Amino acid sequence: MKKKQLKIQTQAIHVGGEPDPSTGAIMPPIFQTSTYVQKSPGKHQGYEYTRSHNPTRSRLEQCLASLEQAQYSLVTSSGMAAITLILHALKHQSVILCGDDVYGGTNRLFSQVFQQTHQIHFVDTTHLGKLKAKIKETKPDVLWMESPTNPMLKISDIQKIAKECKKQKCLLVVDNTFMSPYLQRPLCLGADIVIHSLTKYLNGHSDVVGGAIMLNDKKLYERLWFLQNSIGPSLSPFDSWLVLRGLKTLGVRMKAHCANAINVANFLENHPRVTQVIYPGLKSHPQHALAKKQMDGFGGMISFYLKGGKKESLHFLKKLKIFSLAESLGGVESLIEHPAIMTHASVPKKQRELLGISDSFIRISVGIEDSEDLIADLSQALA
Ligand SMILES: *Cc1c(COP(=O)(O)O)cnc(C)c1O
Repeated sequence: MKKKQLKIQTQAIHVGGEPDPSTGAIMPPIFQTSTYVQKSPGKHQGYEYTRSHNPTRSRLEQCLASLEQAQYSLVTSSGMAAITLILHALKHQSVILCGDDVYGGTNRLFSQVFQQTHQIHFVDTTHLGKLKAKIKETKPDVLWMESPTNPMLKISDIQKIAKECKKQKCLLVVDNTFMSPYLQRPLCLGADIVIHSLTKYLNGHSDVVGGAIMLNDKKLYERLWFLQNSIGPSLSPFDSWLVLRGLKTLGVRMKAHCANAINVANFLENHPRVTQVIYPGLKSHPQHALAKKQMDGFGGMISFYLKGGKKESLHFLKKLKIFSLAESLGGVESLIEHPAIMTHASVPKKQRELLGISDSFIRISVGIEDSEDLIADLSQALA
C-alpha cells in the first residue's frame, strides 16, 4: 500500500491491513504460533521463531511506521520495554537529559534502575533558554521529552529543541503517547526517535499493554531489533492483532476525545469548586499558542486543582459514577485519578511538590462517551 499520499485515518485502516493473500479474509489472521516449519535447515520464508519475527506483529509495525511517517518501527511488550530497549542501545555512562515532568514509570526507570549505568539529569524542557544552558553544562547524548507532559500538560517546542539537539549531536527522543500520531508527529518536527505506550490511545480500548519505537536511522533500528530479539520483550501475536484492530478507529476516537475534552475543560474552568484547569486547548493555558501551532488537536487529557485538600479530593473521586478511578489513559472510557497517590507516587515527594502535584491535584482521561453525561457526573460529584 502506497502510504505517503494517504491521510492518517486511511493509513490506520489500510496500511498493514491488506486482506490475507491465501484466503482473501479481509481481516488479517492472528499468527498464533511460536515457531515456523523450515523446508531444509536454514531454508525458511523469513520467519523462524516468534520472538524474532511474527507476521501479525510485522503488520502492526508497518502500520505504526506509516502513521508516524517513519522508515522503521518495533513493537514491544510494554511502553517501558520500548524505553528499556533504547537505554540498552546507549553506550555505558551515556548522559541522558530528561524532561522533569515525564511519566512516573519513566522517571523511576531512569533514576532507580539505569542510574548506575547512565548519567541522568532532569530539566524543564519548556524553557528553551534553561534547556540550552543545561545542554551546555551536561553535554547529553540523549534528550528525552514528552509534550504535553504528564501530568502538568506543559508544551515544549519540539522543532526548536530538535534544532538545538542537532547542533549538539544529541539524540532527541519524544514520547508521543499523550498525542498519538493523529495529533502530533515528532519525527516530522525533527526528532530522531518516537516512542509510544500502545496501551493508551493507539490501542484505545484498555485491553492491551504494549509499546512501540519509530525511527528513520537504519543502523539504530537494526541494533534495537537485535536487542529486542536478544532480551525478549516482543509483543504477542494476539496483542499485536488487538492493537491493529484498535488502530482502525484512531482518527474517529481522537476527534471524539478532543471534542469531549474541550467541553469538560470549559465546564471545570467555570466551576466554583475548581481553582485551576490545565488543558492545552484552553486560552488560559500558558502555551496555548504553541499547542495550536504544533498539534493538530489538544488531546483528551485534563488536569485540575480542586478547592480544599486531600479529604475533599478523595470525597469527590468517590462520588463519581461514570468516571472510573484508575491509572492509565487513552481508552474509550473516561478515567480519573489522583497523581500524588497513584501514577506519580514513584516520583520523589520533593520533585512532586516542585512540579505542583499536590493533594488537590486531579487528572482526567476524557473518554468518548457523550460529554453531557460526563459533565453531569462531574457536576453531581462536585456539588
Ligand atoms: C503509560 C505510559 C508509559 C509506559 O507504558 P506502559 O505500556 O504502561 O509500559 C510511558 N510513557 C507514557 C507517557 C505513558 O503514559
